[in-house]
Amino acid sequence: MCKGLVNRILPFSSVDGPGNRSVIFMQGCNFNCLYCHNPETINICNNCGACVKSCKYESLSNEGKEVVWDVKNCKHCDMCLKSCPNDSNPKSVYMSVDEAYEQIDKVKSFISGITVSGGECTLQHEFLTKLFVEVKKLGLTCYVDTNGSIPLKDKNEFVDIMDMGMIDLKSYDEDEHKMLTGMSNKNVIENIKYLASIDKLYEVRTVIVPDVLNNHYNVDQISKLIASLNSNIRYKIIRYRNHGVRKDIINSYTPSDDTMNELHEIASNNGCENIILV
Ligand code: SF4
Ligand code: SF4
Repeated sequence: MCKGLVNRILPFSSVDGPGNRSVIFMQGCNFNCLYCHNPETINICNNCGACVKSCKYESLSNEGKEVVWDVKNCKHCDMCLKSCPNDSNPKSVYMSVDEAYEQIDKVKSFISGITVSGGECTLQHEFLTKLFVEVKKLGLTCYVDTNGSIPLKDKNEFVDIMDMGMIDLKSYDEDEHKMLTGMSNKNVIENIKYLASIDKLYEVRTVIVPDVLNNHYNVDQISKLIASLNSNIRYKIIRYRNHGVRKDIINSYTPSDDTMNELHEIASNNGCENIILV
C-alpha cells in the first residue's frame, strides 16, 4: 500500500493558498536551506534515540531499534524537536491515503481545499496523487507548496490532478542558490515556467535575507521572469525572521519597511501586478 510520511496536519490555515485550507506537511526535504523555518521536517528519523530522554511526558520510548511516539501522552511541547541532532521529528507518521483522507473529511465543511507542503512534498508525489484523487471527490482544491526541485514536466499524473502550485525561488543566482539551499535553481526556474505555461502557477515566493543574499538583484530578476510569464501571478516577497531558524548557521535580521518598499517598487516597475509583502 502506498503510504506517505507526514510530519503533521494543520486542520486550518489562511496563509497557505486561497481561503481556509488544511495543510499537510510532508516529512523529508532535498534542500537544506540556511534559513529553514521548519528544520525538523528536513530529514527522516534515523531512530538514534537522542530525543527520548527530552520527553517529560513518557510519550517517546525505545522499542527494539525504533523510537515510538505515543500520541495519547504527548503535550506537544516540542522539546523532542529541539533535542534532535538530525533535523528530524519523532512524531512523523506513515499514513495511508485513507488515513490522511479521514483527517480532511472531518473538516471538509470548513475549508476550500488542502495544501501540501513540507519538507518537500513532491518527493512523495505518488502518495499525493492518490490522495488528491480522493480529496477532489469532496469538491476541494489541491494546492502544492514546493521548493521546485523535482522536474514537474515528468510527473504528468501528479500535475494533471493538482490545481495550482506555489514555488519558492530563493535566489536567481545559481551559485547563491547553491550556497543557500545546497542545490541548483535550474529545475526551480524550469518548473516556474512550466506551471505558468499551463496556468497552474498560483504564487512565487522569495525570502529577503539582509547581509546574506543579493536581495535587490534577486527581486529584480525574479519579478522580470514573472512579468514575462503572466503579470497576474502573485509574487510574495517575504521578510526574513529569526523565529524557528537554526541560529548557529545563519546570521541575519528582519529587513526594514524601507527595504521592503524598495523591493516592491522594483517588482512593480518590472511589470508584476500582484505583489504581496509579508
Ligand atoms: S512534543 Fe510530545 S513527544 Fe515531543 S517532547 Fe513534547 S510531549 Fe514529548
Ligand atoms: S527524531 Fe531525531 S533524535 Fe529522535 S530518534 Fe529521530 S533522529 Fe534521533
